[in-house]
Amino acid sequence: MATTSYVPLLTNHFGQFNETKAADMYPDTDFGSLNLAERLWVSWYVWIGNPVIATGLMSFIMHEVVYFGRCIPWMIIDRMPYFRKWKLQPGKIWGFHPLAEYFGLATHSVPFPSWKLMAVQIALFFVFEDMFHYFAHRALHYGPLYKHIHKMHHEYAAPFGLAAEYAHPLEVLILGTGTIGGPLLYCLFRPDLHIFCVYVWVTLRLFQAIDAHSGYDFPWSLNKLIPFWSGADHHDFHHMAFVNNYSTSFRWWDHMLGTDNKYRAYKERVAAAKPEERDALEKSELEAVEREGVKAERLAELGGGKAGMEGVPRGKLE
Ligand SMILES: [Zn+2]
Ligand SMILES: [Zn+2]
Repeated sequence: MATTSYVPLLTNHFGQFNETKAADMYPDTDFGSLNLAERLWVSWYVWIGNPVIATGLMSFIMHEVVYFGRCIPWMIIDRMPYFRKWKLQPGKIWGFHPLAEYFGLATHSVPFPSWKLMAVQIALFFVFEDMFHYFAHRALHYGPLYKHIHKMHHEYAAPFGLAAEYAHPLEVLILGTGTIGGPLLYCLFRPDLHIFCVYVWVTLRLFQAIDAHSGYDFPWSLNKLIPFWSGADHHDFHHMAFVNNYSTSFRWWDHMLGTDNKYRAYKERVAAAKPEERDALEKSELEAVEREGVKAERLAELGGGKAGMEGVPRGKLE
């Protein structure tokens, strides 16, 4: 095996590279043919020496770094004790590797699947998560579920960053199913999914959630480039109106099922206004939306079974 040529590179990253262990864990691998990401991947697994621990640790670190790293600006302005509730439980993460292998997910193996294949997989996960989230989120607006679970997330009427994961543990579990369910479902049909791809997906999904709750709609926001991308503007309206815009990534489910009717009407009215009157109109429109939103929320809390369907033309969904 051509080990000597790559060893210096690996040694640089993780100290003394254990060649015996490497040969043991990767018996048929030509290390010389691997790209940098794949070499680092091998280094990590060899360095830890135990795939179960290596996968578990990596999953834990990934979540912490991506989530909290991205949120530092908001963490400063938020109340610190709140976060402890959502601290991952390190004890549970060791079960992840056997679970991943059980579902046929590649973990320590290299090379990774091609970037093209991973892009297709990630696109599928986005579409699945968005669909799952749309229906689960609408269900969470049903009176009893809203009162006991989803209300917590709505306590921030104007969302910002951390509100993305500011939610009841059951909500994190229910909506998290949409994130991890796509990859697991995929594994039922095809054997070519690598956990590296799942990490990339989870990272992108966290970015998506945080951006949706950033409270900013920049001229360079993704929804300006991709017209069916939801973005902060779309989800902000959900937090104000309470009854529209249930999806996460894409606008198509809300569009198809009519749950963006108020949002679209508001957008049209603002667009039709004279430029000099636009800002004032937008402000008064949003105030009206918010007033109605408060009423709709109260109705849901009182057990209104129609919550989540408010604003949808009669006969369309009921
Ligand atoms: Zn909601
Ligand atoms: Zn939200």
